[in-house]
Amino acid sequence: MADATLMVWIDQDLCTGDGICEEIAPDVFVGRDDGLWIVKEESSHFGSTIIFDGVEAPDGARGVARVPESQLEDVIESAEECPGECIMIEPFDQEVFANRDA
Ligand code: SF4
Repeated sequence: MADATLMVWIDQDLCTGDGICEEIAPDVFVGRDDGLWIVKEESSHFGSTIIFDGVEAPDGARGVARVPESQLEDVIESAEECPGECIMIEPFDQEVFANRDA
């Protein structure tokens, strides 16, 4: 399992649906059928893929994905560029990780 120092989630209530985040960091962000964006963990980084789409795994504040070390700068840039200011970056929290529903 890859190490992670940060976790990320999107507040879909504020997402404008422009897709800038996925353009910058496609390994972490993906568009959903309803035109809002969600976070994911890809198998290439973590051994298995989890899509935090509100179906397979929770979305919003409960859908917290680990950020691969190789994606840190791109995820931070995505949050800075996000017009909805809805990309939430947090320090990796073992308790949150252990208790999430994914
Ligand atoms: S950059 Fe922000 S507002 Fe735009 S799609 Fe991504 S999360 Fe939504």
